[in-house]
Amino acid sequence: MSTLPPDPLASGPLANGLCAGEPRSNGPLARGSFPPQPLASEAIRLQLRTWPEVESYLEHCKGVIVPLGSTEQHGPTGAIGTDALTAEAVALEVGRRSGVLVTPAQAFGMAEHHLGFAGTVSLQPATLLAVLHDVVLSLARHGFERIYVINGHGGNIATSRAAFTQAYGSAAARGLPVAAGLRCRLANWFTAAPVMHLARELYGDREGQHATPSEIALTLHLEPSMEAAQRPLPQAAAAGPIHGPEDFRRRHPDGRMGSDPYLARSEHGARFLDTAATALVEDLRGFLSESLGQ
Ligand SMILES: [Zn+2]
Repeated sequence: MSTLPPDPLASGPLANGLCAGEPRSNGPLARGSFPPQPLASEAIRLQLRTWPEVESYLEHCKGVIVPLGSTEQHGPTGAIGTDALTAEAVALEVGRRSGVLVTPAQAFGMAEHHLGFAGTVSLQPATLLAVLHDVVLSLARHGFERIYVINGHGGNIATSRAAFTQAYGSAAARGLPVAAGLRCRLANWFTAAPVMHLARELYGDREGQHATPSEIALTLHLEPSMEAAQRPLPQAAAAGPIHGPEDFRRRHPDGRMGSDPYLARSEHGARFLDTAATALVEDLRGFLSESLGQ
């Protein structure tokens, strides 16, 4: 038996969500207010929708969220999947609050500099560029015009931006109807101003730059089993220039950069999730409402 509303995308709570509004030709891409209550995750996960539901969704919303993570070492006590787990959790929360569909997470990112540590799985920049380009082009072909990538890993930033540039060119070259209005935005949840403020308030300069207590706290909130791995650690070397995986491991033998993940608490993680989702929902609202001239 299905636990879903009969047609959540066409006539259910999503119709009252961020994307409810006039058709593209009559006004902004998206109008309206948030759903009165956050939706169930099932309602906004692309993986759990059917193609006719997605087609109906596109009649009132041209936006979609893509979680982008990385699978890389996070110090001796942090989960390898930290960046993917956190990006997906923030994306689903933003989706629940806004009614915007969320694609499956892209869990492999550009993590070449972490390959000196076991368990890291990296895409080369050119590979990640191609993956993101193809994801955007697939979505654009169906009529999605606003691709909102929620990213959990700093190493993905430069490549993502390059991928967006390439995608705009390809959309135009392929003559896609959405080409002129296609826009992609990279939203790094960990650099949202309220998130950085909270991290400073809780951890000061022990937040560091990699395997930070803020991201570890979010994983503790999401995956309580990770509590067992937490233990005090010696002071980590501060961040500096890195010239490849061997250099990284030599400068940062346990994988951390200036951080003290032992400060992380599960309850902090709940606050980071709420703070990040609140900030990104507002950012997404503006992104969906932008007209072509903006
Ligand atoms: Zn990370």
